[in-house]
Amino acid sequence: MAGDGIGVSLQAIARAGRTRELRATERVGRCRVRVHGREALSFASCDYLGLARHPRLAAAAAREAHAAGTSSGAARLLAGHDPAVEALEHELASTFQQPAALVFSSGYMANVGVATALAERGDLILSDGLSHASTVDACRLSRAEVRVLPHSDVEALRHELRDASSYRRVLVLVEGLYSMDGDMAPLEAMAEAARQAGAMLIIDDAHGLGTVGPEGRGAAAACGVSEEVAIQVGNLGKALGSFGAFVLTDERTRELLVQTSRSFIFTCSLPPPVVAAAREALAVLADEPERGVRLRRNAVLLRELLAEGGLEAPHGESPIVPVLVGADARAVTLAERLLARGFLVPAIRPPTVPEGGSRLRLSVTAEHTEDECRSVVTALLEELR
Ligand code: PMP
Repeated sequence: MAGDGIGVSLQAIARAGRTRELRATERVGRCRVRVHGREALSFASCDYLGLARHPRLAAAAAREAHAAGTSSGAARLLAGHDPAVEALEHELASTFQQPAALVFSSGYMANVGVATALAERGDLILSDGLSHASTVDACRLSRAEVRVLPHSDVEALRHELRDASSYRRVLVLVEGLYSMDGDMAPLEAMAEAARQAGAMLIIDDAHGLGTVGPEGRGAAAACGVSEEVAIQVGNLGKALGSFGAFVLTDERTRELLVQTSRSFIFTCSLPPPVVAAAREALAVLADEPERGVRLRRNAVLLRELLAEGGLEAPHGESPIVPVLVGADARAVTLAERLLARGFLVPAIRPPTVPEGGSRLRLSVTAEHTEDECRSVVTALLEELR
């Protein structure tokens, strides 16, 4: 008789060496965490600008919790359309210099909501091979024809677009700043190719909006193509120190998402304290531009130090730096050794990254000091030797 098979599934994961562990990780101070009772300096956070612990965000969230409560209690199209959410959307559109914004309850839901609202059977999606899992799932849910392109390969994109005229709608899905590799998509050439073919270029810039480009306006702004992109998806839970996500687009596309995007319609809107923290983050971004400057300085420094140590770390301002180590077990062992030395640098294994691409992933923030950047690189180089 068939059992539930759960033990068999778990054993298969264990045999493949792919068991993941939920480790209690307390945040205990600026860039510091406690893992299994051991304190460590974290290079594992997407709180790139250090806003998640900013007193102004904490105060705004607390004020709003007392004033409006801790839950929105309803979906946006029912009773959850608090004027504060609408204000946040106007402020996001203004900060990132786009016509309109629509807030989603998470980045995962934004990616699913965008692709499924815009593509259906008979449409074509061209998706980058290193797209985030949420985009992979969005493609599956859309029922469109999906072709996965080699990572950032503009020639392959042009080739696919040449034969795409018979489709009703063609979406090109890429990331701005890739979450596991930290590289930026060649957006100028991609925007040009999409424009010529009448395709919609959609950029998940969860890691780029707030961190790179002029005034942190993201990868599209950095590449000078903000005007040509159909949609940018940003995240409120990474550089902006809160939770949730947003879509930047034109008014008509925003309206279509409101009408048809199921992950927008059928879910509760963000809790008031989360909205208040996100709004305050945008205000802090404007008042404290030095945070972005510090982040970019640290990213450049970390990359320089790794390159001086003989590792491949292309020069640039991206705060995500992968150190490829190949075998899964080696990545895990290195991460454990670094933790024992007081540094939290996560090991990333398949299926998060392609087979053979296991790595340590360093993410640097505005809050790290120069000495801290130097100390993690020294420890890493010693462990790699
Ligand atoms: N897209 C990318 C590129 C991401 O890295 C992430 C988060 N890891 C998401 C989407 C999902 O965002 P969220 O955590 O808000 O669901």
